[in-house]
Amino acid sequence: MVLSDLGRRINSAVNDLTRSSTLDEKAFEEMIKEICNALISADVNIKLVSTLRNSIKKTVNFKELPPAANKKRLIQKAVFDELVRLVDPHAEPFKPKKGKSNVIMFVGLQGAGKTTSCTKLARWYQARGFKACLVCADTFRAGAFDQLKQNATKAKIPYYGSLTQTDPVVVAREGVEQFRKERFEIIIVDTSGRHRQEQDLFDEMVQIQAAVKPDQTIMVLDATIGQQAESQAQAFKDAADFGAIIITKTDGAAAGGGAISAVAATHTPIVFIGTGEHMLDMERFAPQSFVSKLLGMGDMQGLMEHVQSLKLDQKDTMKHIAEGVFTVRDLRDQLQNIGKMGPLSKIGGMIPGLSNMMQNMDDEDGSMKLKRMICICDSMTLKELDSDGKMFVEQPTRMTRVARGSGTSVREVEELLTQHRTMAGMAKNVKGGYHPKHDTPAFG
Ligand code: GDP
Repeated sequence: MVLSDLGRRINSAVNDLTRSSTLDEKAFEEMIKEICNALISADVNIKLVSTLRNSIKKTVNFKELPPAANKKRLIQKAVFDELVRLVDPHAEPFKPKKGKSNVIMFVGLQGAGKTTSCTKLARWYQARGFKACLVCADTFRAGAFDQLKQNATKAKIPYYGSLTQTDPVVVAREGVEQFRKERFEIIIVDTSGRHRQEQDLFDEMVQIQAAVKPDQTIMVLDATIGQQAESQAQAFKDAADFGAIIITKTDGAAAGGGAISAVAATHTPIVFIGTGEHMLDMERFAPQSFVSKLLGMGDMQGLMEHVQSLKLDQKDTMKHIAEGVFTVRDLRDQLQNIGKMGPLSKIGGMIPGLSNMMQNMDDEDGSMKLKRMICICDSMTLKELDSDGKMFVEQPTRMTRVARGSGTSVREVEELLTQHRTMAGMAKNVKGGYHPKHDTPAFG
């Protein structure tokens, strides 16, 4: 995932500090330095990094901390909050109204993933009961209409475009008018991303905006373009004043910090992130979840939503989590369900601890690992399965027995129990009314 290296570096800087016996100001400064270096090498703008450094220092205020203060917790919370602040512009994204025609116009450079994202978004709204359609106002690039047509047909989304009309403003106006008449609720307009002259591109965007009067303009930004993201977003903001950003290609290995800087520079919320080429590879963006995932803490809230949407049999686990309990058997049930949820590389990132364990594994390796973990659980006694796992710490010979019974190693059993402890900790947070804006889950 984009930024996964960054997440690992920040996480280990914080963990090294909070685990060390000398949690003094010098060590604290070292940690901040490492976090800043990690952000800069991920292409985050230097000014933003410097603001973040000062905010963490100010919040923690090491010199004036009372001796009894829980320094570890304060530092974790400050780092988490500041990273969230970096990706959260505190602007409310647009909410379309049912029963009304909402026009959404897409802008962005060619190749950013506009056409793909248009279809993904139309499908997203369609799946939520909106009547959605697509208009292709890119008459500059030969083949643009064909591409949109293909995507739309695959997703069974009505579309409008022209092979003969060369004026994109006319196509956009006619398409939107027709779909308004037909009472479509989400009308998405795809525009061109390239021209002979940059100014022509911006002029065209402004004219299309005037013709279709969009309720929202979304800029599509490629996560892999690094530092250019910021100036590119600023230029589009000045010309088309978009109100939301979709970041694409976050499944790649790019640094991705440029996209974060673009959000901060334009004070515009990211609404979705593209996570692959497939129609369903798009996730809603939420700053807290993003930072939790970035730091390998997992996205418990996202996971629970995902699990609920799959309508798997989760009654016991959900009830347990609501009570702040999470048994080893709950972990076993979750592991078994993971196989039904989709590619492990995606699901793994949502589960605290699992993202680190499954690092550098492809889906096949991940499946094997999952099977071994389930095997470990199946070699436990009923009492052990329904326990909180502490009996393994009190009687380590239990681990040896389970490892032997499952044909695994004690290390793997330990890993599983660590995973269980992390999730049980998260379950406690859920019960205590964990509010991401005000609280910070423990680092993984
Ligand atoms: P446009 O020129 O802005 O309309 O860009 P396209 O929608 O044609 O996308 C350009 C390329 O990027 C295509 O090959 C897409 O399949 C690919 N693409 C778009 N979004 C994503 C994404 O989130 N992840 C990956 N891996 N590829 C993407």
